[in-house]
Amino acid sequence: MEETIMLCEKCSSEMTYFQRGLACGWECPNCSRNIVTTYISPIYTDKSTYTIHLCPGQAPSVNSLKVISEIINENYLNAKRLMESAPAAVFGGRAFEVCKIKEQLEEADIKFFIEPDFPY
Ligand SMILES: [Zn+2]
Repeated sequence: MEETIMLCEKCSSEMTYFQRGLACGWECPNCSRNIVTTYISPIYTDKSTYTIHLCPGQAPSVNSLKVISEIINENYLNAKRLMESAPAAVFGGRAFEVCKIKEQLEEADIKFFIEPDFPY
């Protein structure tokens, strides 16, 4: 990849590239002039719908039922039924939404798979 060199229009110093959260751009280390552009992670522009499925054969623990009932917005009994009927879809949505649910499931040590392949 070719490196882009940006020169400060004020003092002609070489500007350095930065990325913070959703913003990125160049800033001048000499006079602190900066050019900011908005960085949009591909996860936000991905228009595909992903579905998270629970893997079968998992014993429903209190913690996993708590997490699943939160995700499906149902009571523990329905969360337990869902776990017992796995493979079962627990959530469907856009990539950035799926990413949050994925983290919750991973924290609770619940096994799942995502369709189609989740590249993030
Ligand atoms: Zn400058």
